[in-house]
Amino acid sequence: MRDNSKRGGNHSPRNRNAISAGRGHEGEHRKFSPARPGERRERSTASQTQRNSRASNNKEEHIYNKERSSYNKNNDYRKKRSSLVTRDDYETRQAREHPVENTIQYDELERRITLRVTPDIAYDEERLQRFVAESLHIDVRTINALRLRKRSIDARQRKVMVNLTLEPFINEMPPRLDFAPVEYQDVSHGERVIVVGAGPGGLFAALRLIELGKKPVVLERGKDVHERRKDIALISRQHSVDPESNYSFGEGGAGAYSDGKLYTRSKKRGNVEKILRVFCQFGANPDILIDAHPHIGTDRLPRIIENMRKQILDCGGEVHFQTRVDKLIVEQEEVKGVECHTGESFYGPVILATGHSARDVYRQLHAQGIALEQKGIAVGGRLEHPSELIDQIQYHSREGRGRYLPAAEYSYVAQSGGRGVYSFCMCPGGIVVPAASGPRQVVVNGMSPSLRNSAWSNSGMVVETRPEDLDGELAPFLLEAMADGTFAETHHDMNDPQNPLRMMYFQEALEKATWQQGGCNQTAPAQRMADFVNGRLSYDLPKSSYSPGLISSPLHFWLPRFVSTRLIEGFNAFGRRSRGFLTNEAILIASETRTSSPVRILRNHETLAHVQVAGLYPCGEGAGYAGGIVSAAIDGERCAEAAAAKA
Ligand SMILES: Cc1cc2nc3c(=O)[nH]c(=O)nc-3n(C[C@H](O)[C@H](O)[C@H](O)COP(=O)(O)OP(=O)(O)OC[C@H]3O[C@@H](n4cnc5c(N)ncnc54)[C@H](O)[C@@H]3O)c2cc1C
Repeated sequence: MRDNSKRGGNHSPRNRNAISAGRGHEGEHRKFSPARPGERRERSTASQTQRNSRASNNKEEHIYNKERSSYNKNNDYRKKRSSLVTRDDYETRQAREHPVENTIQYDELERRITLRVTPDIAYDEERLQRFVAESLHIDVRTINALRLRKRSIDARQRKVMVNLTLEPFINEMPPRLDFAPVEYQDVSHGERVIVVGAGPGGLFAALRLIELGKKPVVLERGKDVHERRKDIALISRQHSVDPESNYSFGEGGAGAYSDGKLYTRSKKRGNVEKILRVFCQFGANPDILIDAHPHIGTDRLPRIIENMRKQILDCGGEVHFQTRVDKLIVEQEEVKGVECHTGESFYGPVILATGHSARDVYRQLHAQGIALEQKGIAVGGRLEHPSELIDQIQYHSREGRGRYLPAAEYSYVAQSGGRGVYSFCMCPGGIVVPAASGPRQVVVNGMSPSLRNSAWSNSGMVVETRPEDLDGELAPFLLEAMADGTFAETHHDMNDPQNPLRMMYFQEALEKATWQQGGCNQTAPAQRMADFVNGRLSYDLPKSSYSPGLISSPLHFWLPRFVSTRLIEGFNAFGRRSRGFLTNEAILIASETRTSSPVRILRNHETLAHVQVAGLYPCGEGAGYAGGIVSAAIDGERCAEAAAAKA
């Protein structure tokens, strides 16, 4: 591994006494940086404790600088760190030198205990019970259960704390389930509604139709979630992408092999809770109901998806795998059903939940004259750090996450040239995956197991791109793509500014360029982060989780300038905010392009039906009305309600 400490690119060890954790805004991830007296003075309010801590910080800064310069003489940071202290020593010393006050409040009327405690208490059930019993002066044996109602990590200060809300059951037994499960009825004789796509949008639409007494007929181009796994393995092993069975297509949709993050910007709490409860009903860990940032994990999702399918079948619904819908049957501006590649046709109103990777669907709709609109997307690469480094930065500790805390998350946003540059779909303790949905493409994405325990943490790092950008800075890039005969032939209408598929063409061009730069297979082109920022080719690459392999490539040179210059500006800003983040230990892997749909299938806001064609309900991420598992699921339920009302 190359040493970059002298260039200021690498993370360096910190004397923990000198680490300052700023006071952040609510909900914002605070980053840490070595204490600078001026900076502290600016931020502080005039309490006596804070004045004292400032004085000691000045002293600490001096010690820190001394230690740091001595460290710089030693290139191998990890060797040095491991010789310093054991984790137990460290935690004991932390507790002694930086005592923190665990706090507890009990609202007897509301039956709620609110706590702010250290992770060793928060994540150890026995210690938590003892702490509560001692604080409330009750016998610990009278506590039958402490049901978690909310949990969030506050990593803004030097000492990471966990906020908990608990419902205590003292001298009484808790109920078996915390929520009433949804009742699904027999719909074998109900009216049929066609659901195209078995991603979160389609599956939740089907389940909601059953609740409403309608019979869902689910048509899915890919294989069932277990068979699909074998095709996914082949992408890494043989570099072959099955266009019908991959990370995007197949039962469970794009969400099946993912991190399974379940947070959404949706403000409709009731809707979100319903979706999370349904996930629990089909086998998700009930922790998702209480965590501030819930996630399921790719190892657990397939079983949950399978249980959902079984429920649909048990109730008399239908699920057809390897059945690709090729055409809508439209008569007098009304959808009557669909034609499939198998030669079969299915009749009924159609919920179209085909996701954002089904380019053939957009092409077919456009060819059938069904109104579409181009939509902005964000593009860039996936950035991968050692997870230990991200833990150290986010938890302000050389020891990283310690024994109790989960792998740390981050979230960054910056502005560059009037466009947003931001981290996207962060996967702590996860892996980077080859997410192409067809041949001659390289697309990367990220996923994590439930324990989030891989040696890496990754995130998309993307630049907002709007349709109007295609006429400006992106035009040369697209022209270059057109120089390729096959591309020019299949994208002959690319220069038509009214063409609603233009943003999708840009996405395709970028994925194809990435495939070429990667050596025309699933090997992904990559560059060390600091090298990318400094416009240098990386002579070697660190180990990565991306299993098809990486090839060193000057991304700064061949990515569209519009993207690379803004990413560089963004990385510089993120590096200033979090020391150690901008480092050559991290790699940027190209290209992240499937952040959202490049096309919107226009629908009426109230009826949710297509603006022009009755009986068609564009749904989920592919229609441009959702972004992520939970919002696609919510949209699926809404479309089911709209379709059921008309069926
Ligand atoms: C690797 C990866 C990781 C991700 N991680 C997360 C995460 O942690 N959290 C999160 O919220 N989101 C994540 N996402 C995004 C999330 O998966 C999507 O937002 C979500 O799945 C969209 O749901 P959807 O039902 O609208 O579409 P999709 O999930 O894309 O489902 C569409 C389905 O339609 C099928 N289909 C397509 N065309 C046809 C056709 N013609 N006929 C029949 N069937 C068809 C497809 O095979 C697919 O199963 C991730 C995505 C990927 C690829």
